[in-house]
Amino acid sequence: MIGGDEAGTFTHAPVSCAPTTFPRSAYELAEATSPAFAELYDGVSRDDGFLRETLRGAIKNDAFTAALWDVYERSGGQEGRQKAEVGVLRSDYMLDAPSGLPLQVEVNTVSTSFMALGSKVSAMHRHLAAWSAKPGEVVDFDAMPQNDALSSAGDVLAAGWKAMGSKGKIMMVVQPNERNMFDQRHISHYIFETHGIHTVRATLAEVNAEGALRDGTLTFRGDDIGLVYFRAGYTPSDYPTSGEWSARLLIEQSNALKSPSVAMHLAGSKKVQQKLAEAGVLESFMPERAADMRRVFADLYSLDGDEGTEAIKLALANPAGYVLKPQREGGGNNLYSDDLRKRLELGGDLGAFILMQRILPPSHQTLTVRAGKVLEIETLSELGIYGSYLRVGDEIVINKHGGSLLRTKAATSDEGGVAAGYAVLDSPLLV
Ligand code: ADP
Ligand code: MG
Ligand code: MG
Repeated sequence: MIGGDEAGTFTHAPVSCAPTTFPRSAYELAEATSPAFAELYDGVSRDDGFLRETLRGAIKNDAFTAALWDVYERSGGQEGRQKAEVGVLRSDYMLDAPSGLPLQVEVNTVSTSFMALGSKVSAMHRHLAAWSAKPGEVVDFDAMPQNDALSSAGDVLAAGWKAMGSKGKIMMVVQPNERNMFDQRHISHYIFETHGIHTVRATLAEVNAEGALRDGTLTFRGDDIGLVYFRAGYTPSDYPTSGEWSARLLIEQSNALKSPSVAMHLAGSKKVQQKLAEAGVLESFMPERAADMRRVFADLYSLDGDEGTEAIKLALANPAGYVLKPQREGGGNNLYSDDLRKRLELGGDLGAFILMQRILPPSHQTLTVRAGKVLEIETLSELGIYGSYLRVGDEIVINKHGGSLLRTKAATSDEGGVAAGYAVLDSPLLV
């Protein structure tokens, strides 16, 4: 279900009726490399000089990145940071039809969603396959991977809370009028039922009004908070006033473990992704895994300086072959084709954008259900591999892939937001 905390109306999340085919080899490559990306982005988050240098242009040209950077600085940078990081990450891929490789769209380090609803959709597809099997027909369950995204996310958050001394409650930071609350509540319920930890939901405005620091400990409505899990705070509209920024800073300055820390949030920037693709950069962070990891890199271009001039020429010669990306999360922010051309022609300082090769996945015919209505449409799919990550001090305690999500969108739509109404929740049928 998706719905609103205050609206009181609910509808089921849009879903596909059956799983969509995805090559097993590409799925397995994506799954096998995803933990290396968790380690990489955590490594980046710990490198003050690299973050500072890489994000310089974005901080200058983009107020949102600048405000996040300000929280990082004012909470003491690396020194002010907890000596641990807990992450529920999702590395997203589209199948590149020409090469057959899964090419990475991005790695999400903040507010990753659909671990719960995605797991339910996988289970529903398995159930329907068994239900509709003819007598004597053998259902190929091996082609429909079991999806443990919900338990993986819940377990790693609980492990992070325990690593900090099992203090107080977990705070889940959410948006007012949250539409995706059922995905979130399943996680809270799982954490309580499996680990006995209470979760409290709070908006940034509520944290600003009712949160405080007591000897470094974050308190909310009188309870101590051991871990703060962000399901909001990733987009400018989550900060309508300076009060929300005060709340983010208060959280960051507290000794609660943050999932993610603002450093890890910043490490997930599109600009960092582009920088890592430059010759030798990934290699400097991940010398042993870099060759594997590069297999899933799409072409990425900086729009700074001389290099930028060359990239702009490339893109203007073939606007449909590229995607122009600002430093944003949550879908609906990228520019394609004509909009991309217009923005590049407008010129100015493009340091807050990156340019990316447009990935061209194969299309499918998909039976979708949205708001109770069945519709068959031509679609493209994006595979997300979840990752659970926990580092305490210098030791990586947990780093494993944890379930997957297929989001399937109308082939005519550039972007594919499930909650935004462009895409449906789906699961892969490995072939
Ligand atoms: P966000 O952080 O907002 O989710 P993404 O980089 O994932 O940003 O882009 C949003 C959506 O745009 C993706 O889910 C995908 O549908 C589409 N998209 C992004 N990059 C590409 C690309 N290189 N090729 C094709 N489609 C892309
Ligand atoms: Mg994202
Ligand atoms: Mg995305």
